[in-house]
Amino acid sequence: MSSDGIPGRDSETALRVKALESLLLEKGLIETRAIDELIDMFENRLGPWNGAKVVARAWMDSDYKDRLLRNGTAAISEMGFDVVQGEEMVIVENTPDVHNIVVCTLCSCFPWATLGLPPVWYKSAPYRARTASDPRGVLREFGTEIAEDTEVRVWDSNAELRYMVLPERPAATEGLDEAALAELVTRDSMIGVTKVAPP
Ligand code: FE
Repeated sequence: MSSDGIPGRDSETALRVKALESLLLEKGLIETRAIDELIDMFENRLGPWNGAKVVARAWMDSDYKDRLLRNGTAAISEMGFDVVQGEEMVIVENTPDVHNIVVCTLCSCFPWATLGLPPVWYKSAPYRARTASDPRGVLREFGTEIAEDTEVRVWDSNAELRYMVLPERPAATEGLDEAALAELVTRDSMIGVTKVAPP
């Protein structure tokens, strides 16, 4: 049974991918080295652990946080993480007064450099439509209650401009160092559908 519940679907997809890859290689249109490089990038180098390090640094270092909010792309690259497609990264900060949530209403634009590939639900039609029309309802479905007097801001990512949320630092984390803080930060909290839970 495949992950989407359709028997045999995974092996059929794998076969099709293999067949396509063989054909492209044969025609000299791609190189195995280039494919291996891409797979390595998406499996090992890009992922929410990058974003978590950016968040932890911002929590620890207020100068870095200022740079991050002013020019996200530069501050992320300063940590050694580079944007993939020349997109601009904009970081929006959660505070007691403002809660930010990110969506791509058109398709599935996502901050690859810091969060890797988007989760399946992020690409789904209901998330894309309802986050724009009823963000508090969507947040509730993720188990996230936002106080009535907190403003909820929705950010619509596109190909050129990708948003990432700087979540609020949870209580009782004064004694933690940057690495321990990064471990608390989840992908979903940087999309803005959840908050970072205290340790
Ligand atoms: Fe998109």
